[in-house]
Amino acid sequence: MLTVRAFTFNPVEENTYVLYNENNRCCIIDPGCYFPEERDELKTFLEEESLSPILLLNTHCHLDHVFGNKFIYDTWKLPLHLHEKEKSMLDLAPASGQMWQLPFDNYEGPLVYLKPGEKIKIDDDELEIRFTPGHSPGHVCFYHEAGGFVISGDVLFNGSIGRTDLPGGNYDVLINSIQTQLFTLPDETKVYPGHGPMTTIGFEKMNNPFVKLY
Ligand SMILES: [Zn+2]
Ligand SMILES: [Zn+2]
Repeated sequence: MLTVRAFTFNPVEENTYVLYNENNRCCIIDPGCYFPEERDELKTFLEEESLSPILLLNTHCHLDHVFGNKFIYDTWKLPLHLHEKEKSMLDLAPASGQMWQLPFDNYEGPLVYLKPGEKIKIDDDELEIRFTPGHSPGHVCFYHEAGGFVISGDVLFNGSIGRTDLPGGNYDVLINSIQTQLFTLPDETKVYPGHGPMTTIGFEKMNNPFVKLY
């Protein structure tokens, strides 16, 4: 089973996740580390826990989620895994960086495209790819059934949902993604979002003002 460790990085306060197993192998999801001290914090954690990173994943490629991709690649030679429809978002990220006065060096290594329904492995542990567009065109969530959690990126937050006014965003598509890809998970499933504190599927079904079912 995978253990979750969260970091909150960069001025946009994005959550970066490290998921690791009993063999000390881990994946890094949405490395938002922008400042050198944030990169050091992530690297020091991995070294202190003797973790070997084997996978680099992006839920989507808005700038706050991709700042550290190049650092991860340069340090551990991990190719970036993302949905094909996020390639254009990744290409736009440096221009948004300029616009937000957060310039950065974009990832330019190989791209591996994730397929909806595909299960990617960290040894015996599986992450199921759930296709959840609406906040961005190729957004995916990572569901770890055995551990009862989902990494939800910027689709579903504690008490809120992702914005839909950015390029490729669509409100109806987002609501549909939440209802068909996330609210179909067991109520007790823990939700680790791209911003803010964790929540559960059951709590959001009851309380989320944007998508509540009751
Ligand atoms: Zn986003
Ligand atoms: Zn974000």
